[in-house]
Amino acid sequence: MKVLIVGSGGREHAIAESAAKSDKVEKMYCAPGNAGIAEYAECVDIGAMEFDRLVAFAKEKAVDLVIVGMDDPLVGGLVDEMEAAGIRTFGPRKNAAILEGSKAFSKDLMKKYNIPTAAYENFTDPDKALAYLENAKFPIVLKADGLALGKGVLICNTLEEAKEGVKTIMLDKKFGSAGNEMVIEEFMTGREVSVLSFVDGKTIKTMTSAQDHKRAGDGDTGLNTGGMGTFSPSPFYTKEVEDFCNKYVYQATVDAMAAEGREFKGIIFFGLMLTEGGTKVLEYNARFGDPEAQVVLPRMKNDLIDVIEACIDGTLDQIDLQFEDNAAVCVVLASDGYPVKYEKGLPITGLDEFKKHEGYYCFHAGTKFDGDQIVTNGGRVLGVTAKGKDLKEARANAYAATEWVHFDNKYMRHDIGKAIDEA
Ligand code: ATP
Repeated sequence: MKVLIVGSGGREHAIAESAAKSDKVEKMYCAPGNAGIAEYAECVDIGAMEFDRLVAFAKEKAVDLVIVGMDDPLVGGLVDEMEAAGIRTFGPRKNAAILEGSKAFSKDLMKKYNIPTAAYENFTDPDKALAYLENAKFPIVLKADGLALGKGVLICNTLEEAKEGVKTIMLDKKFGSAGNEMVIEEFMTGREVSVLSFVDGKTIKTMTSAQDHKRAGDGDTGLNTGGMGTFSPSPFYTKEVEDFCNKYVYQATVDAMAAEGREFKGIIFFGLMLTEGGTKVLEYNARFGDPEAQVVLPRMKNDLIDVIEACIDGTLDQIDLQFEDNAAVCVVLASDGYPVKYEKGLPITGLDEFKKHEGYYCFHAGTKFDGDQIVTNGGRVLGVTAKGKDLKEARANAYAATEWVHFDNKYMRHDIGKAIDEA
């Protein structure tokens, strides 16, 4: 079959790498893709939000399956448009992608269906939000309702900071219309674990767990980023936590969406926080996490296309989802200065080394071809992933592999997976 992947990051590279292993795939396209994805797929210069062009391209090439990797096109309704044109597409429709697209919606859903989450209030009126804050407990968390590239969450330690936050989100509209509504949420502490899952509308099958590192600097300092590294599985995702989530979170979410007339097919990413008061849902995403996909997909034993087709066809109950009994660690190589200001167009060398070693991957995020030379083209440049028999071995392997790659201003965190030592 012919497959079109929509997106351009390390996540889409991991999806392409996984899909390429399927006997079912004859030809892959990726829009817009990057220099690494080009190894598996023909990259086409169409942006992920150019729906008309994407649909026209899929029709012209008689694409059999579209896989939407990114949040923006899902929330914007690309799946609906592809389906209207008769093209099989993997991902939630617009009315279900709202699970990620609106934090106010997801909080209300959790409240209505008793899915454990932090206490909160939603606001559309900044004056009411300010009045509420006068009697609030600090720290407190302010969240722009809509998509904000992972930057729309403000943790405020004082009333003054929180007032400033309301201004930033709702009045100055720093995150655009994402700030038309705002969630004010109780601050929680605990370890964060990510669990991704396949969903076919009724059945949910969870994947192996992962843990992300969002801050730019070692010791979780500095600004929030799209993610500086990740490892899988999480030693903190115990059988007890899993049983709890099976009972109160996973199926409950799928059933809640169905009950609301918003059948969810695709990936649900559960951002969990393991608090002293039990496991709570921090957030939902409606797609693979990035970089989580880079440690989870390489460990998956199933044919990705089989699982995706089962989600679309509503036959996921017949799939025995299996993961390797090992571990993987991904260290993101960024351009120094990310996430604020950084150079682009710097030549990258050493990438061929990954082809010589099994169990090592170099997923491209911000790269492109400049003639025959691969150069940096974004803040997060590459995700270096390595497997190992356990987390410690995988971490040592991943850090060793980061030395294979060179580009000027290469920056990485040196403590990815440090939590492993505390387990
Ligand atoms: P992304 O798109 O990058 O996943 P997001 O914008 O959807 O992020 P959240 O995941 O909801 O935002 O929050 C971002 C981070 O803020 C969380 O990973 C967590 O570290 C912190 N956070 C969010 N809510 C709370 C809370 N109630 N208490 C403490 N920390 C929180």
